[in-house]
Amino acid sequence: MTEVFNTPESMTKLTGDYALGHVRYATDGNNILRNVQPFVFRFHDQKISFAHNGQIVNAKSLRNQLEDQGAVFNSTSDTELLIHLIRRSPQPTFMEQLKDALRQLEGGFTFVLMVGNHIYGAVDPYSFRPLVVGQFPDGGYMLASETCALDVCGAEFVREVKAGEIIHFHEEEYDLISYTENTTTAIEAMEYVYFARPDSNIAGINVHTARKNSGKHLAEEASAPEADIVIGVPNSSLSAASGYAEASGLPYEMGLVKNQYVGRSFIQPTQALRDKAVRMKLSAVRGVVQGKSVVMVDDSIVRGTTCKRIVRLLKNAGAKEVHVRIASPLFMFPSFYGIDVSTSSELIAAHKTEDEIREYIGADSLSYLSVDGLVDAIGIDYDAPYNGLCMESFTGYYPAPIADFKERYLEQLTPLQEAFLDKGKQVNHAK
Ligand code: AMP
Repeated sequence: MTEVFNTPESMTKLTGDYALGHVRYATDGNNILRNVQPFVFRFHDQKISFAHNGQIVNAKSLRNQLEDQGAVFNSTSDTELLIHLIRRSPQPTFMEQLKDALRQLEGGFTFVLMVGNHIYGAVDPYSFRPLVVGQFPDGGYMLASETCALDVCGAEFVREVKAGEIIHFHEEEYDLISYTENTTTAIEAMEYVYFARPDSNIAGINVHTARKNSGKHLAEEASAPEADIVIGVPNSSLSAASGYAEASGLPYEMGLVKNQYVGRSFIQPTQALRDKAVRMKLSAVRGVVQGKSVVMVDDSIVRGTTCKRIVRLLKNAGAKEVHVRIASPLFMFPSFYGIDVSTSSELIAAHKTEDEIREYIGADSLSYLSVDGLVDAIGIDYDAPYNGLCMESFTGYYPAPIADFKERYLEQLTPLQEAFLDKGKQVNHAK
């Protein structure tokens, strides 16, 4: 955001009472300018702008169908589909067209749309991705993916937009409309584990508290009694590390420092750039870790890049032993609802056993939080599988269809994944 709005003038020239913004975390389509959101479409009768969080799993097949019918797409992103579906809908009003369009989409999504002086927000039928409403003291409203954005802007939390709902703002009022009866709750567990900011709440649960509880559960499940100190990987694992330290009675220390000027390493496009970003991002605090047996808590291992690098950093800084504790279960299965890990080939746990991962990252010991431990730690309680959490990456249970991704998913299943699923764990990808 600061790279675009980098001068006072870039903000002050934005006038008017309505605004829409988006920070792109691309999970579909290339990282090119044409895919930058919000998308703005100008028609003879209206102008529609919109932005999207998540991933539409039937985007490819819908797009192919529409192209066969003559549609011309401008971007390579799944998001653009929405405008085609809206404009092709035979329904008489914009609201009915929007409902019509949303009913054709599968996957994880929240949308915000601006049409004239109307603003709309919409959430998928599982509420994989969060969307919250805030109100300003002077009566204006805002929509955001996370509650921390409301705090930053001085808005008061009003409510979440729930699974299968559309919220419509017009002239200081809003209505809530549901566009489907077939809803359930499957909030993406990775929002709590990694994505969201610790000062946000999701479904009424504070993210820091959920992470801290994960750390406490982890300490109970995988103690390290011989260790001297507990450290976390800044920033996303600090909450879990503090929980681990509190529950284990070991001192919580700052063993790693983050360079605040380097962006997220995970979303760099190539492995070489990811390695470089991790190297520039973190430094070990020699004075803290030297000669110590260290428990290093991280929130997750996906490809293994971060953990391997950090273990090496700590050992180079003189740590005697490094015991890695991961505050989420083994990340064995890809996710298709918008967290940017949609192939098994990139998942270390799909290819290596826990012991092989330990060896690969060079740790003296390695343990993960259990599935039940994570569900318990987060503490939401909906009447749905995993208490309303989407745990697909840890269990192979996909609560919604995975549509266009299914063929590749089945093709790529590794012997380790097959064995895990055969052990009687639920799997629902055949939908
Ligand atoms: P890796 O280096 O690939 O094992 O990635 C794991 C690290 O990236 C963890 O330390 C997490 O904090 C972070 N992370 C986990 N999942 C994601 C994701 N979907 N997008 C970006 N970062 C992630």
